[in-house]
Amino acid sequence: MADDADLSDARIEAAITAGVEAARLKVKPPRHYTECNWCGDPTEDGARYCCKDCATDHMRYNSARKRNGIETED
Ligand SMILES: [Zn+2]
Repeated sequence: MADDADLSDARIEAAITAGVEAARLKVKPPRHYTECNWCGDPTEDGARYCCKDCATDHMRYNSARKRNGIETED
């Protein structure tokens, strides 16, 4: 028969397993983009932007919005 220490180990282990599982489910797989997040042109290899200029423009756009207290877009 299991003593109290064994039972408590089992409870701790169950809690750890549940925590690990919850954390695992929270992690999203990297997003694969099919079109530029700024201009909408098709992108290669799941890239977020079609070119460096779009990435820079979107970053500037978002930082300008942030300065103005406007919620930024992804
Ligand atoms: Zn683009």
